[in-house]
Amino acid sequence: MKKLYIETLGCQMNKSDSERIAGILSHFGYCETDIEKEADLLIVNTCSIRQLSADKAYSKLGVWGKRKKTRPSLKIAICGCVAQQDKEKVRQRAPYVDLVFGTHNIYQLPELIKRIENDEKICAITATPVICNQNDFKILRKDSVNAWIPIIEGCNNFCTYCVVPFTRGRERSRNPEEIITEAKNIIKEGFKEITLLGQNVDSYGKDLHNPDITLANLLRDINKIEGEFRIRFVTSYPSDITDDLIDAVEECDKVCKYFHIPMQSGNSRILSEMNRRYTKSEYYEIVSKIRKRFPDVAITSDFIAGFPGETEEEFLDTLKAIDELELDYSNTAAYSPREFTKAGKMTDKFLPEDIKYERLERLNEKNREACLKSNEKFIGKILTVLVESKTQKDGKTILNSRADNNKIVHFEDDTKNTGDFAKVKITRAQTWCLYGVPIE
Ligand code: SF4
Repeated sequence: MKKLYIETLGCQMNKSDSERIAGILSHFGYCETDIEKEADLLIVNTCSIRQLSADKAYSKLGVWGKRKKTRPSLKIAICGCVAQQDKEKVRQRAPYVDLVFGTHNIYQLPELIKRIENDEKICAITATPVICNQNDFKILRKDSVNAWIPIIEGCNNFCTYCVVPFTRGRERSRNPEEIITEAKNIIKEGFKEITLLGQNVDSYGKDLHNPDITLANLLRDINKIEGEFRIRFVTSYPSDITDDLIDAVEECDKVCKYFHIPMQSGNSRILSEMNRRYTKSEYYEIVSKIRKRFPDVAITSDFIAGFPGETEEEFLDTLKAIDELELDYSNTAAYSPREFTKAGKMTDKFLPEDIKYERLERLNEKNREACLKSNEKFIGKILTVLVESKTQKDGKTILNSRADNNKIVHFEDDTKNTGDFAKVKITRAQTWCLYGVPIE
């Protein structure tokens, strides 16, 4: 067997793509290794959401390029968003790369891999995806409890700071039968959690022009599959969360009461500059609607500090929003200009780096406060959790689990295993996790 090492940077969609890449390559005699130095084929699956992530990809290639000098048979490939964006430019920076393949070209790998094994150098980037039934290909899933299913790829929103519509293309939904077959297979294989993925998951089905194909109906269909498992979906776009979707989450016992809804800014002028299709008050209305329906729901978000032209007062609106909305957790980042994007051209409005990073620090501090406050609300409550892993500490078995609402819960129990569900009474809260005791 030849050995394959994949370095995956970025989001869950990239992690899911890497599992699919490893599955496809397993048919060609490649088995995955965690030890980079052992590999015959090295792939970096890249992210270009921020400059730092793109720089990481090139620095990885630099290290591998040096290794190839002493071992010329080593093959090096780059895929994902940086590859899709930079195309042939990748080889100007890293001429030793054997294969550059885009986000639309994963399913061409069987042909591409044979060609690089015959010492061809290839740049396979197409503007539109290669259409196929993904169930025809093996997937080597990394996790034994949770399985990702991409249901829609790409995005039509063109938020002014975001490169995704340029790297992943326009929205393309998979057909529901294909998704349900994949879900049934996952449950048969013993997975206990399915996460439906999409850059804008609530848009699922819009491009298929059949009003019955929606995320809400897909959740209902997957919920009908027999077995003990739960279902999540990420990432939601605030104004695309329909009443029908909220109804489906309520009706379906297997769907987790958890929403990840990026707000990005708590100020309506900045939201408009970002080309987000909602105002601050519309976002507040969506959160309030969800909280009324599901009392123990967790709502998490994303925020950008220092968007071009953001004033101190506008930034303070973001800190206020985290408090007022009682958000349970937020991913945070300083604004990073990206090629092709509208905001990337607002150079006259760019804020100095020190202001951006000082705001990011305050945003992180607010996030820590909000997380602790949110976690403390759960003390005394009983949560259903799914055990994700076990650790031994001071001769005790500690189970690391995740509640339905995505909170991390640790508890001591010798009777449960990874993949088991349990009921846990929460006794203690910290900023990033909860502790509890099992309930019979
Ligand atoms: S919704 Fe906006 S931020 Fe999210 S992927 Fe689409 S363009 Fe990017």
